[in-house]
Amino acid sequence: DPADTVRTHIVRLQRRFVVVLAEDLGEEQRVNAMRRDFIANVSHELKTPIAAIGLLAEAVQQAADEPALVREFSKSLVKESRRLGELSRDIIQLSEAQSTLRPEDREAVSLRDLIRGEVDSHRAFAMQHGVELVITDDSALDREAMILGRPTSLGAAVANLLSNAIRHSPDGGRVGVGMAFERNRFVVTVTDQGEGIAPEHLSRIFERFYRVDGARTRGDGGTGLGLSITRHTMRAHGGDVDVWSQPGVGSSFTLAFPLYEAPGSGKRAKKARK
Ligand code: ADP
Repeated sequence: DPADTVRTHIVRLQRRFVVVLAEDLGEEQRVNAMRRDFIANVSHELKTPIAAIGLLAEAVQQAADEPALVREFSKSLVKESRRLGELSRDIIQLSEAQSTLRPEDREAVSLRDLIRGEVDSHRAFAMQHGVELVITDDSALDREAMILGRPTSLGAAVANLLSNAIRHSPDGGRVGVGMAFERNRFVVTVTDQGEGIAPEHLSRIFERFYRVDGARTRGDGGTGLGLSITRHTMRAHGGDVDVWSQPGVGSSFTLAFPLYEAPGSGKRAKKARK
């Protein structure tokens, strides 16, 4: 009976609709929960330096006649306001990294220039930490690697890896930056000789506000947002970030950027695609 077939079909469609709806609701609830979590974390993270700045400012006022105390309180005041600045910078960068990349946000970016620029601007920071920062391998780079992207976000994605590597390096350690073409990808590797990351933390370090050991890095900046900014930025650009690490040996982070045109001969690349 054709009517029966139609009825069965409609029932089946209805069931499928209910399943899809339930999945959507689940997704929406999950996103809402994540958003609530994030806002709770942000408020918590902001509260600490804001409260400290308020208390320290009062303390400076009250200690006006004692220059030594004023000096001490002012020093803490500078530290806490710096921390607040870093937090708000990272929160803004994260929200930028999470927003969709519209075509008008994209510019042609030379990856080689971007990486070299970030390495150069981290030289002073490396020196302060007694760390040698070197480009170990860019021999493959006699040709240009261009991508269409948001330059500020891409710069921040690279900068986070460099500053992490430097901050986690021992005094006298070395941070190596390699660049290479791998098939249709451009791969940047940042390797350090730091304490490394234990396997149970490795899968979580890209989460927002996740820190392996709060106490160890807290004094030296670090908002817990850096790697999450890097991952969101890479994914928005069709690439990704990956990590290899061994406690006691060091860590190696790789950024893989998609290239729209295979490097080298454009003709060959086109032929291969056919
Ligand atoms: P943070 O601001 O704390 O550096 P990130 O998101 O950049 O936040 O990193 C998350 C955590 O991953 C850090 O707190 C640190 O414990 C760990 N981590 C990141 N990079 C390295 C590295 N190069 N060596 C060792 N641990 C690292």
